[in-house]
Amino acid sequence: MSKVHVKKDDNVYVLTGKNAGKTGKVLKVIADDARVIVEGVNMSVKHKKPRGRNQQGGIINQESAISSSNVMLVCAKCKRPSKVGHKILENGEKVRVCKACGEIIDTVREGKK
Ligand SMILES: [Zn+2]
Repeated sequence: MSKVHVKKDDNVYVLTGKNAGKTGKVLKVIADDARVIVEGVNMSVKHKKPRGRNQQGGIINQESAISSSNVMLVCAKCKRPSKVGHKILENGEKVRVCKACGEIIDTVREGKK
């Protein structure tokens, strides 16, 4: 089972590859492939063909997905790339916690599955 530890709008730190050391916001999580698209990371050039006379062709820069195992969540509290832990509060709420500073990151919403 491939569970992605980050989610949309998380700030993440890239560990490996040509973008190592970069941080960015998660734009999209592709859970089935355990891949993420991170803002400004792994840009690739795409050539776009003009369609019709109103649309210009050209070269656009677009983010490509990277493996979610190559990113770490950046904790909003301690600002460090950190491992994410899970904790269940007394009220039964499941939360994500930062393993570096111990702060609660956010609540895990148990969605469909
Ligand atoms: Zn932290």
